[in-house]
Amino acid sequence: MSSVSIDAYSEKASCERLLSVHRWTDSLLSFRTTRPAGYRFTPGQFARLGLEIDGQIVSRAYSITSAEHEDQLEYYAIIVPGGQFTTRLDALRPGDAVWVEKLSYGFMTAERFVDGRQLWMLATGTGLGPYVSILQQPEVWQRFDHLVVVHGVRRREELAYADKFEQLRRQAAEQGWPARLQLLRCVTRDTDLPDAHGWLAGRLTTLLRDGALEQSAGLPLSVEQSRLMACGNPDMVTEVRELLRERGMGPLRRTGGGQFVTEDYW
Ligand SMILES: Cc1cc2nc3c(=O)[nH]c(=O)nc-3n(C[C@H](O)[C@H](O)[C@H](O)COP(=O)(O)OP(=O)(O)OC[C@H]3O[C@@H](n4cnc5c(N)ncnc54)[C@H](O)[C@@H]3O)c2cc1C
Repeated sequence: MSSVSIDAYSEKASCERLLSVHRWTDSLLSFRTTRPAGYRFTPGQFARLGLEIDGQIVSRAYSITSAEHEDQLEYYAIIVPGGQFTTRLDALRPGDAVWVEKLSYGFMTAERFVDGRQLWMLATGTGLGPYVSILQQPEVWQRFDHLVVVHGVRRREELAYADKFEQLRRQAAEQGWPARLQLLRCVTRDTDLPDAHGWLAGRLTTLLRDGALEQSAGLPLSVEQSRLMACGNPDMVTEVRELLRERGMGPLRRTGGGQFVTEDYW
């Protein structure tokens, strides 16, 4: 978190424009900005964005949800009540300035997994964002046999990007890409409503611990075959790390070995 002068920030960031906002709920939105000239990122990475607030730039990290090749950058965000950055973000209109730092950041990328045939992508809330970008990489569909997105939310209306995943699934079938994509949605509230699409009731970590996720996907987790990402709420991420360690897995290491990589949003 930081607050710097516009002059100082302009040395490392580019002044871009907000292009569009898609509101999923009152507090969840996806937004698009222009992409800085020459901006490079690997799906799974995050950008640092800056907004002008009271004459200073306030910056925050945002995972990129758009595909590597697109002209625009997209992000999936929650408006945090009273949050400095997101209160301003919520008030932006198309055409307004959004600063984008010239470098991209982060190590939660699929290409770091050199072995294993299943890629599990676990997220709470807006932690889903990086997987939307990762799943737009054709290589991921060719490299893995199974792609499993597990999205934990409180309420059903927070299950964003379902259409995008459907579209990617169709595209993969048309292209003959081998991987099978499964989307497991874990909802903690409104769980007594009629079940329409096989949503799972309960916290993601509870469902991981008791084997319900594996059962629902029809895929047992194994040290040899399973590679995992976990992103979002830091309590979820910590618990997932503990659960995976209990199963003999470890974090991905630069020197080789390891089964999982994680990212905390706060
Ligand atoms: C590597 C990284 C990537 C990130 N990517 C995203 C992203 O793609 N989308 C996104 O919405 N946020 C993302 N964040 C969080 C984001 O950077 C800001 O923290 C968030 O926008 C709140 O900023 P704020 O100034 O409005 O609130 P602050 O005043 O900074 O309040 C922070 C508090 O808000 C809550 N909070 C922060 N982020 C979230 C969240 N995503 N979901 C639920 N509660 C939250 C926490 O309680 C936290 O303590 C990411 C953070 C990191 C470190």
